[in-house]
Amino acid sequence: MSDPTALSQILDAINALKLQQDELLKKTEPTWRKFRGRSLQTPNRSMSPPIILTTYPGQVGIAPIPITWGAEDPQVRGPIVASRNPASLKQRNAIGAHGGAYSIYRALAVAIKELDPVRKPDLHNTEPVVDIGPHPSWFDPDRIVSLDPWGHIVSSVFRERIEGESMDVRPTIAITKAHMSVAEIEATVRAGKLPVDGRVVLTPEGQLFVTKGAVEPVWYLPGIAKRFGVDETTLRRALFEDTGGSFPELITRPDLKIFLPPIGGLSIYIFGNPDLISDPTKELTVRVHDECNGSDVFGSDICTCRPYLIYGIEECVRTAQRGGVGLCVYFRKEGRALGEVTKYLVYNARKRAEGGDTAASYFARTENIAGVKDMRFQATMPDVLHWLGITKIDNMISMSNMKYDAIVNSGIKILNRVPIPDGLLPPDSRVEIDAKIAAGYFTNGAIPTELALENVKGRTWDDIQH
Ligand SMILES: [Zn+2]
Repeated sequence: MSDPTALSQILDAINALKLQQDELLKKTEPTWRKFRGRSLQTPNRSMSPPIILTTYPGQVGIAPIPITWGAEDPQVRGPIVASRNPASLKQRNAIGAHGGAYSIYRALAVAIKELDPVRKPDLHNTEPVVDIGPHPSWFDPDRIVSLDPWGHIVSSVFRERIEGESMDVRPTIAITKAHMSVAEIEATVRAGKLPVDGRVVLTPEGQLFVTKGAVEPVWYLPGIAKRFGVDETTLRRALFEDTGGSFPELITRPDLKIFLPPIGGLSIYIFGNPDLISDPTKELTVRVHDECNGSDVFGSDICTCRPYLIYGIEECVRTAQRGGVGLCVYFRKEGRALGEVTKYLVYNARKRAEGGDTAASYFARTENIAGVKDMRFQATMPDVLHWLGITKIDNMISMSNMKYDAIVNSGIKILNRVPIPDGLLPPDSRVEIDAKIAAGYFTNGAIPTELALENVKGRTWDDIQH
């Protein structure tokens, strides 16, 4: 027979353990589980966690992980932490949310309880397929200000923080590889005008091999302000006011220097050996392209975007076949970063204009509507080139003086500028290209006069057969 005193001691110990476990469960159970299944019509406010509208530097427990932008040692530079999870809210050192514009969809997923807001990504096997950097440009705090140079390797350089300290550090860059098929390139290969080498052009059908990357914006605010020639306070104020007051910490947290803006990022497509990009002894061809969905994807003929992009890809492939390497960078800056709605409004105004759609009034139509000609502001565009370690471009497949000036002024040499061949100009695109040439775009030909611009006219709607 067992000793009743010992039995009651064991029972007491079990009860104590159970109480401890209940306490632990309460602490670790994700907040959202408590609200699961409750409809929005019957909120139980007494159980809702308080909404934190903003934070202040002097608040109890606020201790952002220090960031030393441009530091050589990634541990000194510090991980970018944007998560508002209870665990990292006070340590977080970035304003905004990951994913650029897609942060809104993530919020929606949380709202409809499809996503646990405190869930951390499983980064197993997600590492880049090629090595990029570090390059000396990463360690100049003024050279790269609009992306995180460590963004593709956070899971390795900040492993301690992620695994040991359970910190939510997310990659802002991903690099993978793929096969791709582009109708125009396939036709060129089938016509025997682009050889099959089994390395870049893989098949007689014209399939291409590519290493590609996606980059989300990470803004170092003092650097962005400097790049645009404004003071940081003015920049923060405008970003706060003109996003409908979306990011109050731009104002209340001057100690947080990193902002993840809710905008599109960029993609890079590398043809040939990616290791050669930073080797100045190898030939490098570059096309920097700003998104134009209407032309790039749907083949609209009012501009030169798709043909110039395809020409850029073809020149990248040819360079790789000669032993060099090619790079296309694709920026999400639709309609000169004015957006597609503005762009189509401009098309209407152009086609309905008295005297027709002329090259002479091309930019005026955009200015009438948007107040500016262009909001792409190429000032931060070269950051991605510096991130890749580029110091010299042999062939720049672009006529844009704004892109050329931004790249050259950032310290990268450009040896040749390559305009779009005349034979590739779509029927209705002469208005755009002549207006741009007159405004400073690079050309090997003549610069059109005022009178000539008046005479370059696009199609009117009356020309369209219904
Ligand atoms: Zn276009």
